[in-house]
Amino acid sequence: MPLQALKEIIRCPQCGGREVIYSCEPKCCYNHVCADCRSTFELNTQKTGRFDHETAISVEEPQSGEPTTGCASCESLRVAILSSSENEILLLCARCRAVSKMVVEEFVPGFSS
Ligand SMILES: [Zn+2]
Ligand SMILES: [Zn+2]
Ligand SMILES: [Zn+2]
Repeated sequence: MPLQALKEIIRCPQCGGREVIYSCEPKCCYNHVCADCRSTFELNTQKTGRFDHETAISVEEPQSGEPTTGCASCESLRVAILSSSENEILLLCARCRAVSKMVVEEFVPGFSS
């Protein structure tokens, strides 16, 4: 099964909305906004120190506006979801094969419901 792209699993931490938009330039602040409640948050990555040379991965750079983050090791935007659970999302980099942990930072809630 191919690895999922970021856009397929990213949800707004507040309302769970799927329409999460990255409004800045690639490789900038990774500040995202939820189209539903206007919460904003950054999608950042941390190094895990692990590498995965086994898993097949083919991923292109995200389209403008799609959820985006960079590899914690080489900053490539060609990352895909290696695994996701309730409290941890791991990304695999197609370029250097580092495994990065995705973190949500700078969360600012929008309209509360
Ligand atoms: Zn920016
Ligand atoms: Zn939302
Ligand atoms: Zn990388």
